[in-house]
Amino acid sequence: MPPVHLAVTYERSAQEPLRYFYGRGENPTREQLERCLAALEDVRFATAYTSGQAAAEAALALLAPGQRVVAGDDVYGGTHTLFDLVRGRGVTIDQVDLADPERRDRALADDGRRLDLVWVESPSNPLLKITDIAETARLAHRRGARLLVDNTLASPALQQPLRLGADLTLYSTTKFLAGHLDVLGGALVHDDPELHERLTAHRTTVGTAPGGADCFLVHRGLKTLSLRVARQVENARRIADALAAEPSVGVVHYPGRPGHPGHAVAARQMSAPGALVAFTYRGDPVKLMDRVRLFAAAVSLGGVRSLIECPASMTHRPVPRRTRLRLGVTDDLVRLSMGIEDPADLVEDLVHALRAGPA
Ligand code: PLP
Repeated sequence: MPPVHLAVTYERSAQEPLRYFYGRGENPTREQLERCLAALEDVRFATAYTSGQAAAEAALALLAPGQRVVAGDDVYGGTHTLFDLVRGRGVTIDQVDLADPERRDRALADDGRRLDLVWVESPSNPLLKITDIAETARLAHRRGARLLVDNTLASPALQQPLRLGADLTLYSTTKFLAGHLDVLGGALVHDDPELHERLTAHRTTVGTAPGGADCFLVHRGLKTLSLRVARQVENARRIADALAAEPSVGVVHYPGRPGHPGHAVAARQMSAPGALVAFTYRGDPVKLMDRVRLFAAAVSLGGVRSLIECPASMTHRPVPRRTRLRLGVTDDLVRLSMGIEDPADLVEDLVHALRAGPA
């Protein structure tokens, strides 16, 4: 196993030639993690960050005032808040339903306005919308824009956006990659040397590089990524089918179900439909969260423990209610993130909790 380097400064006389200087810029454990993250997508570069938000902010810091982004409308709640911050710096960010081919084509057509970056989250959080990455990359590149894909909900185990034509992938490594709900982290992955120089210089200047202990934990998580994700997907399939049979459940959002609007695209661009399931519940979601026992009522996702949350009052609470409702993030929406528990136990726990409430 690689050693964990915790030192924040490096003695000059011990190194010839001088490679390590100060921990905000260089750390061998961080570099090991980055090599692994880049290899997972078959490219040369990855930059690790203290969180997914720090990675997203680094990608948005590449934009100058006056530049323009077209982004998906259904994104993680913190991304909505970050977009507002960046709008305050004079960057235009227009949010459109990029999972809808007609709206996407209209938003990315040459309308005389500049376009510098297209931002896709697929599957999206929390509605699990699927955007066609290859087609969006083609449209973005025709306009001379880069395509960034937030691949947090799929992980490289299920989806490889750079192979589909994207220029940059973004991760909250806090989620599936680290996988144990005990470390925060983020990453940007790509194959552009000039971009790599800009990102590392920016990270060193603003101080958003993670420490050696955190990098070690994320790297250790990566070793079991494919095993964990395989079980998590199996759990999600079983839970989605069980939910569809319950009278207290309205819509089930899971790209693996044939009725999901993104089912065909997901089947094309993902090796499996992911480990998150969302649904509308005809009872009180807060009481449902109290009744389940195996699912912890908590935000975050992608870890070994199954989690249940209500986006309206938890992950997406900072999003203004009117915006939330327009997006379809209604008060009765419940989001589940599958852990690696036994699938039969999870189904029994959830079905029991659903049936104990109103039919
Ligand atoms: N992107 C997505 C899709 C997320 O779900 C999250 C967090 O939930 C983030 C980014 C932000 O990651 P972090 O919490 O590591 O800052």
